[in-house]
Amino acid sequence: MAEQKLISVIVPCYNEEEVLPLFYAEITKVSAEMQTAHPELTFEYLFIDDGSKDHTLRDLRKLAKQDRRVRFISFSRNFGKEAGMYAGLSHAKGDYCVVMDADLQHPPAFLPQMYEAVASGKYDCATTRRVSRAGESKIRSWFARLFYRIMNKISQTEIVDGAQDFRFMTRQMVDAVLSMTEYNRFSKGIFSWVGFRVKYIEYENVERAAGTTAWSFWGLFRYSIEGIIGFSTAPLTISTILGMISCLIAVIMVIATVIKKIVFGEPVAGFPTLICSIFFLGGLQLFCTGILGLYLSKTYLEVKHRPVYLIRETEENTDNFAHDDDES
Ligand code: UDP
Ligand code: MG
Repeated sequence: MAEQKLISVIVPCYNEEEVLPLFYAEITKVSAEMQTAHPELTFEYLFIDDGSKDHTLRDLRKLAKQDRRVRFISFSRNFGKEAGMYAGLSHAKGDYCVVMDADLQHPPAFLPQMYEAVASGKYDCATTRRVSRAGESKIRSWFARLFYRIMNKISQTEIVDGAQDFRFMTRQMVDAVLSMTEYNRFSKGIFSWVGFRVKYIEYENVERAAGTTAWSFWGLFRYSIEGIIGFSTAPLTISTILGMISCLIAVIMVIATVIKKIVFGEPVAGFPTLICSIFFLGGLQLFCTGILGLYLSKTYLEVKHRPVYLIRETEENTDNFAHDDDES
């Protein structure tokens, strides 16, 4: 028999009690099919409970008791999906790792195809790419497109529009991703930054199987700023250029005024000139300091070397905790 290969399925979960059973049913079905086709494959399912407020953790404990392939990590609070993925990748033991959402928007049915692509040795990573944003609001899609356009203009790291965090990776690529220990994690950028050969599988957007999305519009907005700050220093350059332009304008204005006064003998209209320049320069300065501030705040968080996540419970120490499952 061929050498055993372990696939770690990493699933960040935040308040996913509604979809968890559906997801588990689907992933076990697909794994069984894959094992029939490739008997050398084994699976582990690593769920990361990102400080859920519903019964996600209770359900994970149950699953871990029933099925030895199920492992879980439960955070001490909500750390965000990025932290969940990082924790999952750090704890996964697999020769291959696949990161996917719990809500079946990343259909497990793609796994066989992804495995074929990576196992062939031609690719180090297989991922899906949404070619439509069906089911998403118009305004959200518009902002998303705008974000990708800006991002790809100002950053050297290419961020593919529609690429997702649904990724099937070799151990080598996982180790590369883990070697980026930054605190402000923007996975779309990180996955692209590490390089390697990536196969994109195109598909139409699927809506959430149940439950609601945890992302608000502002959440996404903040996330896109994170992406820009994390992977481009262009805003710093822009602010420098803006500063230079405004200085230039100021100098020209002074020269023009002096010439007007000396050559044409026109009186200098003081008040409007003054107000205009104060507003202009004031605004510009605030803008530039704001940009500086953004980078500084990120640097500040980075130099603190705070952990990306903190674990409270895993399938190994679960017996130390009170399980209030039975009463609900
Ligand atoms: N998620 C998480 N922590 C969070 C928010 C989301 O682990 O703080 C997980 C969530 O459980 C899901 C995945 O990230 O498995 C994607 O979240 P969601 O479906 O809400 O986002 P969308 O698909 O709308 O981008
Ligand atoms: Mg989703």
